[in-house]
Amino acid sequence: MIVEKEELNHLLDKFGVQDIIFDLISSLSAVKGLSEIDGYFSGDEKELVLNALNVLIDNQDMERCSFYLLDETQYLVNLTGLSSDEHVSGKTLTHYKPVKFKMGEGIIGMAAKTQEMQVCNDCKNDPHFQDIQKTRDCFPGSLISVPVFAENQLLGVLNISHPEPNYFTDWHIRLLQIYKNMLGQLITNCRLFQKMEKQIAKRTEELEKTLKSVEQLKDHYENQAMIDDMTGLFNRRYFYIQAERAIANTIRYGQMLCLLIIDIDFFKKLNDSFGHQGGDEVLNHVAAILKSQVRDSDILVRFGGEEFVIIFTDTTCRNGEVFAERIREAIEQSECVFKGDRLKTTVSIGVYCLNQSRAKKDRDDIDAIINRADLALYRAKETGRNKVVVFTPSLLQKNKQLN
Ligand code: GH3
Ligand code: MG
Ligand code: MG
Repeated sequence: MIVEKEELNHLLDKFGVQDIIFDLISSLSAVKGLSEIDGYFSGDEKELVLNALNVLIDNQDMERCSFYLLDETQYLVNLTGLSSDEHVSGKTLTHYKPVKFKMGEGIIGMAAKTQEMQVCNDCKNDPHFQDIQKTRDCFPGSLISVPVFAENQLLGVLNISHPEPNYFTDWHIRLLQIYKNMLGQLITNCRLFQKMEKQIAKRTEELEKTLKSVEQLKDHYENQAMIDDMTGLFNRRYFYIQAERAIANTIRYGQMLCLLIIDIDFFKKLNDSFGHQGGDEVLNHVAAILKSQVRDSDILVRFGGEEFVIIFTDTTCRNGEVFAERIREAIEQSECVFKGDRLKTTVSIGVYCLNQSRAKKDRDDIDAIINRADLALYRAKETGRNKVVVFTPSLLQKNKQLN
């Protein structure tokens, strides 16, 4: 048998069930709305509760609802509230004063103390409202205060009011029983989520700190592997990494560079006369002078044995030669005291200057550059030592002839 819609309405009306169905649908809608609120809300707890109150007022004909949170001092403090007018307009019309109740004070305090829902069907004649001015516009006719729990812990009290006395029905009460459980769960989830987020942030910070110190340690060991133990200067490994960068800059940005190979003259003789220890002392002495002659941006390394290499970056060829001469002179004029002996030494220096066009034309790699500076050094040794020779292409010719 098919019943027409109109006929159905008539029947429902006749038996008085239409209102019941309407109430049931409203209640189910409120529960559905609440279940749709993000359970892992990471924002403000007040905002979460306000969202929940919005759902309630949206589906139930209530005048006002508010939530009183139990604070650490065991007071119930007005967290947030909403009236049906505010819900419709979307604006806050009431200025919420911070209202507080002690346990057992007023109907809200009673709900908290007894841990049971308090229903007041006629507020004007209820002893709980004795002290409140009854002429106030917003004075309620009916009011329900529901304690909200999570895992048997009281979180606060939900308060619902309507201007008419005897307004609330069994449906309201049944709905509020379900609603308060869901609200309790939502608040707990929100707190858990915030706690979790804090822990994650703390762990992330700790992890970042650990990572940073591991990186520092890695840098430290990498640098250690690139440092010459005896002189404290960088070694050949460091040189190759830095030199590649310097050459790339010359090609890309046109920054000139000058490479110097510095070799101690007759070092073997020093070793023979003063022993290896004496030789080491001279090596450290020369290293210290070289260190004092370079800028932070220059590259200075002990290349091996009694040979050092410097790359002066962003320097003209003329300046490179001047710097080399200054170094030669500084070493010549210095002396190193070893076991009471004043040891004098000199160096020979081969210089190679690289500019952008030369770098592009010859496609110079670092070994080619070293070889040319070495030819200039060889020339300096050949022509008397304790001198600076700048590479010229004629040295390549001479070298070819010799070979
Ligand atoms: P030249 O003027 O032609 O450069 O002659 P030289 O004697 O300086 O050059 P040679 O290559 O004949 O000798 C270099 C010596 O340096 C040989 C090697 O035993 C010594 N030497 C290399 N490393 C060290 C070191 O760490 N400490 C000491 N004391 N001597 C070293
Ligand atoms: Mg040598
Ligand atoms: Mg030497």
